[in-house]
Amino acid sequence: ILGVGLTIPIGGADMPVVISLLNSYSGIAAAATGFLIGNNALIISGSLVGASGLILTNIMCKGMNRSLANVIFGAVGAESDSGSTDGKEMNIKSYSTTEAAMILDAAEKIIIVPGYGLAVAQAQHVAREVAESLEAMGKTVLYAIHPVAGRMPGHMNVLLAEANVSYDVLKDLDEINPEFEDCDVALILGANDVVNPAAKSNPGSPIYGMPVLNVQEAGRTIVFKRSLKPGFAGIENELFGAEQNQMFFGDAKKSLQDLVRALKENE
Ligand code: NDP
Repeated sequence: ILGVGLTIPIGGADMPVVISLLNSYSGIAAAATGFLIGNNALIISGSLVGASGLILTNIMCKGMNRSLANVIFGAVGAESDSGSTDGKEMNIKSYSTTEAAMILDAAEKIIIVPGYGLAVAQAQHVAREVAESLEAMGKTVLYAIHPVAGRMPGHMNVLLAEANVSYDVLKDLDEINPEFEDCDVALILGANDVVNPAAKSNPGSPIYGMPVLNVQEAGRTIVFKRSLKPGFAGIENELFGAEQNQMFFGDAKKSLQDLVRALKENE
């Protein structure tokens, strides 16, 4: 009853923190059992699971700018206005491959924002190819890494490291946010919640207070995703209808492969 009562009010983007915390409790329970039955292996492995779970929980809370108490009890009695667009119609514009390649051709500084969709599409290698083509054209390319982008802390770092992207160009939230104002194009690859301006502007949003990447300060944003469906937190994203935003609909890997081809033709 305690377990069910504790987890039922928690939803949206907070659930992974609770899963990580419960995982840590399982380690603590195992360690306690180890003390009771005098089993050193249980004490050691239980302590490791308990401690690592607590560290992970702490990292995730910091990434969302929330205290653990706020995650666990914050939703009790709170009314959530999950739509960030207040029912307003969004004016959605979308690019073709040629148009996106032309915009990138004219840009000087480009910031790539990877998200969970990039991992689903396994598009990390082709994202690096896009960056390499742009660098070959003399452009500056940086990657913006949000602490909770993807489905676990460090998910994007691991994904991009696998594609041999240099660590020097991976910039974390605090480092990259000031860079957006003089960036010509932000390429948002399968990211959604981590670029949702509602986290700053809509106190009724479930992700209100979570630090987000300031992509709306870039000259243009291009969002690569398959549809207008929401991300993990299940909320709409008003960035999709913003004046400077264009959607690039399709599977991220296929879209980026087309884009690399178009960029190479322009070289
Ligand atoms: P989101 O889950 O917000 O959005 C991912 C987007 O990727 C979706 O909107 C989806 O749109 C798109 N997508 C899915 N498959 C593809 C594909 N094949 N090609 C192109 N796009 C695709 O991801 P973010 O990384 O922005 O945010 C992470 C979220 O996960 C946050 O809410 C965070 O709190 C939560 N979280 C984070 C954890 C962490 O510690 N990092 C742990 C667990 C959850 P569409 O379907 O339209 O394509």
